[in-house]
Amino acid sequence: MSKQTFMIVGASLAGGKAAGELREQGFDGRIVLIGAEDELPYERPPLTKDYLRGESEREKAYVHPADFYEQHDIELVRGATVTAIDASASRVTVDDGRELDYDKLLLTTGAEPRRIPVPGSELDGVHYLRTLADCDVLRRRLDDSSRVAVVGAGWIGSEFAASARQLGLEVTVIDPLALPNERIFGPEIGAFYRDVHVQHGVEMLLGQGVDAFEGDGSVARVRTSSGRIVDCDFAVVGIGITPRTQLAGDAGIALDNGIVVNERLETSAAGVFAAGDVANAWHPFYEQHIRVEHWANALNQGPAAARAMLGQDVSYDRIPYFFSDQYDVGMEYSGYATSWDEVVFRGDRDGGEFVAFWLSGSRVVAGMNVNVWDVNQHVQELIRSRRAVDVAALTDTSTALDSLVAEPTA
Ligand SMILES: Cc1cc2nc3c(=O)[nH]c(=O)nc-3n(C[C@H](O)[C@H](O)[C@H](O)COP(=O)(O)OP(=O)(O)OC[C@H]3O[C@@H](n4cnc5c(N)ncnc54)[C@H](O)[C@@H]3O)c2cc1C
Repeated sequence: MSKQTFMIVGASLAGGKAAGELREQGFDGRIVLIGAEDELPYERPPLTKDYLRGESEREKAYVHPADFYEQHDIELVRGATVTAIDASASRVTVDDGRELDYDKLLLTTGAEPRRIPVPGSELDGVHYLRTLADCDVLRRRLDDSSRVAVVGAGWIGSEFAASARQLGLEVTVIDPLALPNERIFGPEIGAFYRDVHVQHGVEMLLGQGVDAFEGDGSVARVRTSSGRIVDCDFAVVGIGITPRTQLAGDAGIALDNGIVVNERLETSAAGVFAAGDVANAWHPFYEQHIRVEHWANALNQGPAAARAMLGQDVSYDRIPYFFSDQYDVGMEYSGYATSWDEVVFRGDRDGGEFVAFWLSGSRVVAGMNVNVWDVNQHVQELIRSRRAVDVAALTDTSTALDSLVAEPTA
């Protein structure tokens, strides 16, 4: 029998990890990993953190060492965009005109920054941050500027603001919400992160959006919806991302807030899978489709899709997890909570060393540990147990979290 070709479109974290997993699992067919960026597959978290600040080398961000692909006989095609999929013929078209056949296809096309639709957004100096190339440009901007306006107090904006402050720039953050990430985490954590930035000297202009970027050729000011004028040398916009679905959509693959996949990460087209930021996957634990835009999901879902491509028994049910580092505040969050009854705290909330729990009744539906480590696994176990917990014990640091996981239902 001739060897099969497994093709992966999107050579970033999910795609790079999936390619490695195929070999790890003993697949001895052809692996073709195609990526639009002219880079080795890399991880993006350093792009708002150490790499942005010039504290780490490019290589540290790579998903695998540079020689990994050759060593594992993975055909990495860089700087090439797949422009069409013919799912019935199992063939893709690449922008250089080549047509390539596959036996199984994995789409890890990720996401791209949402653009801000206001006057002046096309001015030079209005930046977005998704790629290493974007980050290299911003590193130079940070080097030769003294003032930056950050639009959006989500994770990208907040981490960029923290790094810019650490490099000594004057930073103003503008966000229409009253508190950073308030819709996802509620007012308590929103206020905590607002205060962290204020304590580090960031001007937080909250509850106001951006009406316009102004300047002569390049941005010099941001005008907010409250009429404030923010002078700046450049601006960074982080107002969310959009899954890159056009390729799949044009091929007739079902879309709904991303590429719709089942718990085996199979799309609506036979032999075509999707993973990472682009995939809206059926989650067996939550019994709904969830699209997770975080590092750990790409890290784990890519390999899970690879195992599904090999016909293994796969049911991707990891509890969503992500992390963020801002100044000296590190945090991990696990869970998926769209509504809750209350947020309770364990530890030193004012001192910034605590675990926050989102409770539905007395069940933990999400948890965030801030400058407290080695507890996130227990947070996940509490979520997964769906167990009613004794809230007094949960918030008492003298009660071990793992003992609550083991406790019978209250
Ligand atoms: C600056 C930054 C910082 C972050 N920090 C954190 C963090 O601290 N914690 C956390 O949990 N998460 C973080 N994230 C999120 C995390 O990086 C993403 O969840 C992750 O990158 C998703 O990986 P992916 O492989 O699914 O998609 P992507 O990383 O988006 O990669 C998709 C790739 O596919 C390529 N592609 C798309 N279409 C085609 C095509 N038609 N043909 C060929 N190639 C194509 C793209 O060029 C891209 O390289 C951060 C993201 C950014 C941008």
